[in-house]
Amino acid sequence: MVIAIDGPAGSGKSTVAKLVAEGLGYLYVDTGAMYRALTWKALKEKGDLKDENALTSLSRQTEILLKEGMGKLKVFVDGEEVTESIREGSVTENSFYLARVPSFRAEMVKQQRKMARGNNLVMEGRDIGTVVFPKAELKVYLDASLKERARRRFLELKEKGINTDLEVIEKQLQARDKKDKSRKVAPLKIAEDAFVIDSTKMKIEKEVDLILRKWRENYGAAKSST
Ligand code: C5P
Repeated sequence: MVIAIDGPAGSGKSTVAKLVAEGLGYLYVDTGAMYRALTWKALKEKGDLKDENALTSLSRQTEILLKEGMGKLKVFVDGEEVTESIREGSVTENSFYLARVPSFRAEMVKQQRKMARGNNLVMEGRDIGTVVFPKAELKVYLDASLKERARRRFLELKEKGINTDLEVIEKQLQARDKKDKSRKVAPLKIAEDAFVIDSTKMKIEKEVDLILRKWRENYGAAKSST
């Protein structure tokens, strides 16, 4: 059983996906973390992010591992924990280089499909319902206005003690959206059969409730015992 959640940066996918997974007792997978992980390594090794061949060979020498435990997803690169480091601004701003490399994407898709063997999962990203699991039992496209997504990101950073400019965040989000939607390989788009949620004026609990309700409507008998 797969619940695929896609949507633009800052739409709240991670929070919602985690809560839905928790509610159903499913495994939660953040695929963005995989793109971030190799970007982190490429930046650390001062690799040329514009060189697709170099990125491909770097990915072949790298082990990316996602481990879920105690309600938290931990990310490891070659055995080193990078859960926090992959959230740095430089990684966020540079992930698009890798995201446009077909061979890397193909490898990620293979690994993501493998995760579903023997597991029920909630997977979030940009291409989960369109490419990774085109036959997912439920596809959700989570969106919110650019202004609202920027406001949320601003508050999130403020909470972490990072002071930024709302306008700068808005511009950065807009630029990321554009890159994710316009790339040739697996661009961000709404799957035809996706359940679209505009969360601009919605509370997180409501979004989670909507998804769980939709899930139960379709798969009530198959839901986990929690
Ligand atoms: O989801 P998150 O913002 O952490 O993802 C970081 C970047 O990784 C995205 O901006 C996107 O370019 C890329 N990504 C992707 N496909 C996915 C998940 C993330 O291309 N399934």
